[in-house]
Amino acid sequence: MPVNVFSLLPQELESRLAQFPAFRYRQLLHWLYGRFVFAPEHMTDLPLTLKDYLLENLSFELPQIALEKAAQDQTTKYSLSLTDGENIEMVIIPAPKKRTLCVSSQVGCARKCSFCATGRWGLTRNLSAAEIVGQILIAASICKPERLTNLVFMGMGEPLDNLENVLKTLQIIQANNTLAFSPRRTTVSTCGIPQQIIKLADSGIKTKLALSLNSAINAKRDNLMPINKIHPLEEIKSALKYYLKKSTFRVTLEYILIPDINMGKDDIKALRQFAGDLSCKINFIPYNIVPHLPYRSPTEIELQEFLQQAQSLHQAITLRRSRGAGICGACGQLAGNHQGVTP
Ligand code: SF4
Repeated sequence: MPVNVFSLLPQELESRLAQFPAFRYRQLLHWLYGRFVFAPEHMTDLPLTLKDYLLENLSFELPQIALEKAAQDQTTKYSLSLTDGENIEMVIIPAPKKRTLCVSSQVGCARKCSFCATGRWGLTRNLSAAEIVGQILIAASICKPERLTNLVFMGMGEPLDNLENVLKTLQIIQANNTLAFSPRRTTVSTCGIPQQIIKLADSGIKTKLALSLNSAINAKRDNLMPINKIHPLEEIKSALKYYLKKSTFRVTLEYILIPDINMGKDDIKALRQFAGDLSCKINFIPYNIVPHLPYRSPTEIELQEFLQQAQSLHQAITLRRSRGAGICGACGQLAGNHQGVTP
């Protein structure tokens, strides 16, 4: 089977094209990552011999857009079909000065967080590096002539359960002769798998890290996120400290606000304790309704009361109002072709 060109680091591509003059491989990279032209037939300045070689020896397959839904705020969710018939989703969130892609790393997810649409149907498979790079390239070409500025691994899947391919993706897109994507503008979000956080830190590949925390009380977090029964908060916190020693970035704690579950005074107190000695900022995200799940979104009054209490936290806090909720493109709402799944 020909290797997918989007799974290759620039140096790997160069060695595969060693029989051609070096400038040819740079031309190819420019077509793929500079002009977003993905079919050798359309690369007008490549000689026929090289085009034939590329078509015979490499695959240029990308996920295909099957469906596109835009919300009023222009946040757009794309359903993408993969070569084996599986479906994933990605979301592009435009803002005046930035364009963020929320990218998927798996088909489904094994972690079964109780508030998440993806977690409800389990894991089908990991995405390959080519399938993750493919989403980024499709998004970059959609954003043209503007640049895709930010990348968050907060789509379908637990990125650290597919660490090898996520790291390869980061290496590919951060290379100078591809997208030169800044690590400062990349965030990998995890439900909290200590050994994988440590591997990420040890990899030397730079990215920001977000922990999907959602409760700093073990008993509550056990209910929200089953991973917590295996790796409780204390273990996760030491892994975060390890990451912080090796990284120049602060960690982000993501905290989805669910009324009657994690918005009380005891929750703030526990959060203050957990975050107290961590170099971090905290993002609060009002819960987005997922059909068939027993949670509701906070009212404006509940939100304001909570934020008032959260002023006692020592870290920078932000309220991130999820975009794209009307199209099920907001945080926790992505479910691929399993949107209608029932419990
Ligand atoms: S929140 Fe993330 S880790 Fe949890 S089930 Fe959903 S996709 Fe998986």
